[in-house]
Amino acid sequence: MPISRRDFLKYTSMAAAGTAVSLSDAELFSHLFAISPEPHEDVNYIPTYCEVCFWNCGAVAAVVNGKVKKLEGNPYDPRSRGKLCARGNAGVGELYDEDRLKHPMIRTGERGDGKYREASWDEALNYAAEKMTKIKNEYGPESVAFMMHGGITTHLMNLGKAFGSPNFGFPSYGQCRAARMVAYDLTYGADVGSPERVDMANSRVIVFFGTHLGENMHNSQVQDFTEALGSRAKIIVVDPRFSTAAGKADHWLPIRPGADMALMLAWINIIISEGLYDREYVDKYTAGFDELKESVKEYTPEWASKETDLPADIIVETARELGRYAPSVCVHPGRFTAWHGNDTQRERCIAILGAILGTWGREGGIYLPTKAPLAGAAGMSYPVPSRASIAKGPHAFAQPQLMQAVRRTTITADPYPIKAWVVAGTNILRAVPNPAKSIEAIMKLDLLIAIDIRPLDTAMMADVILPECTYLERHDALKIDRGVSLSVGIRQPVVEPLYKSKAGWWICKELGNRLGVGGYFPYETYEDHIKKECAAMNIDYDELTRVGTKFYPGTDNPYITNENQPVFKTPSGKIELYSSRLAEQGFAPIPKYNRIEQPEKGWFRLLSGRSPVHSFSRTANNQKLFELFEENVLWINAKVAFSMGIRDGQNIILVNQDNIMSEIIKAKVTQRIRNDCVYMVHGFGAKSRLLSRAYGRGADDSRLMTRFIADPISGSTGMRVNFVRIEKA
Ligand code: SF4
Repeated sequence: MPISRRDFLKYTSMAAAGTAVSLSDAELFSHLFAISPEPHEDVNYIPTYCEVCFWNCGAVAAVVNGKVKKLEGNPYDPRSRGKLCARGNAGVGELYDEDRLKHPMIRTGERGDGKYREASWDEALNYAAEKMTKIKNEYGPESVAFMMHGGITTHLMNLGKAFGSPNFGFPSYGQCRAARMVAYDLTYGADVGSPERVDMANSRVIVFFGTHLGENMHNSQVQDFTEALGSRAKIIVVDPRFSTAAGKADHWLPIRPGADMALMLAWINIIISEGLYDREYVDKYTAGFDELKESVKEYTPEWASKETDLPADIIVETARELGRYAPSVCVHPGRFTAWHGNDTQRERCIAILGAILGTWGREGGIYLPTKAPLAGAAGMSYPVPSRASIAKGPHAFAQPQLMQAVRRTTITADPYPIKAWVVAGTNILRAVPNPAKSIEAIMKLDLLIAIDIRPLDTAMMADVILPECTYLERHDALKIDRGVSLSVGIRQPVVEPLYKSKAGWWICKELGNRLGVGGYFPYETYEDHIKKECAAMNIDYDELTRVGTKFYPGTDNPYITNENQPVFKTPSGKIELYSSRLAEQGFAPIPKYNRIEQPEKGWFRLLSGRSPVHSFSRTANNQKLFELFEENVLWINAKVAFSMGIRDGQNIILVNQDNIMSEIIKAKVTQRIRNDCVYMVHGFGAKSRLLSRAYGRGADDSRLMTRFIADPISGSTGMRVNFVRIEKA
């Protein structure tokens, strides 16, 4: 049942008034479901939050006879507002995937040859703990690195820190958000958060730089975007590909890949020189305006036209539209920002553009997070590692979370050896560019422990495999959402774990006990821990388990007012158009344009992105989603295809600049992409034979990314720097 924003507010005010609490479970949720149980069956409606992707939408499961019949969005949750995306609805496909890892396994053959024997939990955990302890004794705790994604993060970080390691790797950082996080921190003293605090539902103009909203199915943001379309917001999509979002746009700007900064710097120049910027806001809140004005003078529309392949008059017209509707302009900061190795400065351009239009803390721009206080349990105090983390690499402003730095150190042992990886919920061989390098690193390890739900390619390289249960079978950390308003959501099991799988918290606690750090897991069950946290936060635990998400209406303070002034944690205390911190480290304090390498004739830049029905390689084997999207295809410009004699649907192979060949992939011949690039959806080309549906389907984009350029500022791995030629298969 569709739920509008107004309905969402109605639901949440019911919850606040306590009306929801007095309703039975069926009265709370049954109207959401169009399921018809047999007359003798009881339906239990159990709320939780989704983990088919990282958006963590509130969901409700209808459970009949211990089986999940259907999932729907929780109307009390701000990220779902009563709706799940296709992947969220297909959560049952994760739960009932017969290819799931069913019991612990210990490797019997050579690493990577897929030979394992079944082990008991005791045996597998003892094996893992003994090897970790041996490595700790020989090389120090820093020689064990922990990589992760998803709900297990809280538990594995706790284990890793307790163990004494400072080395953590997050593909979601270096391969995704690092450039944006660093750029916004340098400019505003804060990131835009996750979900990003974009006020799109109220925007008059929305600009996407390569953000494929609608293909990356970020639930509440897609709902906001749809609302903005309904209120006739102007949409400008800057993308070499005519994406789904471009199909809704007033202006599709098919820019030459890598020239985004040229367009933005020209826009900034036009907006300043024509006086379209928010003068009062700039005077009050920003530092470095004069330097910016001087620096962008050279970036004229005519110059930008040559760099971007876009007509100068369109560059001027779109700049004027931004100025006309400021500050209700949302220049979306993006999420996957690891493009060309200059990504922090490109993100700085987005941040600066937003600043001169006065969008931070303004309706339709970037809203301010709730200031509502929330008490919490005291944090842990961990041992201080004797050696510094290697996961920062040489990058001045990176957080120590760079997966490629962990991989490099594993290969070189410089400055000290990394001897073991504990990998949980992330498929490193697909998520990090150049899987051959990841395999080289894995082959150097003394120990690889995989904690996963599915037999993904990385798990099948492990020495010991610990099967985690799905999000529908476990507790996880409370979801504390400091978006526009405060809300707290619970993940709780809706059914018992299948097979011999166990919750991530249990696996980490049991490993912790065997490693002598069990004191860092001071609870028998994670439910006990959540109860304690709820007590510390003054949350009624029973109510939370029934409603799923406790929403606090009236805790919003989204826009700047006289009483609600923004705080910028930068050295100047202002929005730094001129970054003093970048200047100190020898980087350009105001972004400068540098042309990037372009492909020669007969070569194409490889672009990759998302499908609305898949979450990377993790869902490729989900039966329900597989039926919707079995494999990726390669988008090729129609004229290029015609000139090469390639037909739509024809099998082709890509060969990259380092002579690495792709798997066979089908051509999608289309006018929706420029002639200098090709595009495929990320996450396919699985090598694990235990994935009965995903195995061998489509092509793996990461395999072709043998080259990446690490951004010197943030360490973001620019991956759109690989060129391919096309051969008929
Ligand atoms: S966006 Fe979709 S897959 Fe992601 S958490 Fe929400 S419902 Fe689940």
